[in-house]
Amino acid sequence: MTIENITVVGAGVMGRGIAYVSALAGFSTTLVDISGEKLEEAVVYAERTAEKGMKLGKVTQEQAEAMTSKLQTSLELERAAASTDLVIEAVPENRKLKKSVMETASQYAPDHAIIASNTSTISPTELASFTNRPEQFTVMHFFNPVHRMKLVEIVKGLDTKDETFAAIRMVAEQMGKETVEVNEFPGFVTSRISAMVGNEAFHMLQEGVASAEDIDKAIKLGLNYPMGPLELGDLVGLDTRLNNLKYLHETLGEKYRPAPLLEQYVKAGRLGRKTGKGVYDYTDKSELIRK
Ligand code: NAD
Repeated sequence: MTIENITVVGAGVMGRGIAYVSALAGFSTTLVDISGEKLEEAVVYAERTAEKGMKLGKVTQEQAEAMTSKLQTSLELERAAASTDLVIEAVPENRKLKKSVMETASQYAPDHAIIASNTSTISPTELASFTNRPEQFTVMHFFNPVHRMKLVEIVKGLDTKDETFAAIRMVAEQMGKETVEVNEFPGFVTSRISAMVGNEAFHMLQEGVASAEDIDKAIKLGLNYPMGPLELGDLVGLDTRLNNLKYLHETLGEKYRPAPLLEQYVKAGRLGRKTGKGVYDYTDKSELIRK
């Protein structure tokens, strides 16, 4: 099937990045959120990301202009879904919320449309059961920051048809991404490993093994990770990281129990870059929040 129109639901850290790569790849893209402010921020983000891309020689002026003309925003999922070929859901990692988005998308999207979710952990079969088309559902897991990260993890549910998988792989490739095919299991490949490493770093911080800076430095320079697990947590969002761990704890067992210090940071509203403070403080480096 041919996909030309994409609706991205949720204009947060991930949704705005997905909408940007989608519009840049030439898809007519509508970004939907319940917050007008988030939508405005997402448009500014897309323009700034394109500008940076031009400075680095990765995006041409024509591509940047075409991207802007392909990107629209909307507060109404019903209307956006009605003329779409693919819905990519990127609302917070909360089953109830995702269920309500899946139901609305199912009700208004044309019969041929595929519904995908950017969930980090939730079962594609369960999410598919919230739609009226489980055979046209799959998880399409992007990484943060979306325009820089090469991978899309495609996770099939019980009923996902091969045609759906193939169509999603083509979309991801048109967006310039590599794909992997993953079988359904909580946390897929990447979220499971990343949550485990991030949680262990929080335990170490809590136990006083080393400072946050030294934990991150040790992992980067000693193990050759491109980012330390604590700075990565701040980038991902500590609330998102905590939600992932809670789900893995529930489904895979005790070793995924979230570190108490992580729970405490989230209770305090220290969610990472998006709130200006997480493990690290970003309040005096406002340009970092945009990265
Ligand atoms: P976020 O909190 O930054 O953004 C979520 C957005 O969804 C917000 O703008 C919010 O206003 C909007 N929203 C809430 N309810 C809505 C609704 N009913 N309709 C439309 N919009 C709604 O979250 P995020 O970090 O972008 O995460 C989104 C999803 O992507 C989650 O499932 C998360 O697990 C997954 N994910 C996150 C990362 C990451 O690094 N943050 C990486 C991969 C996958």
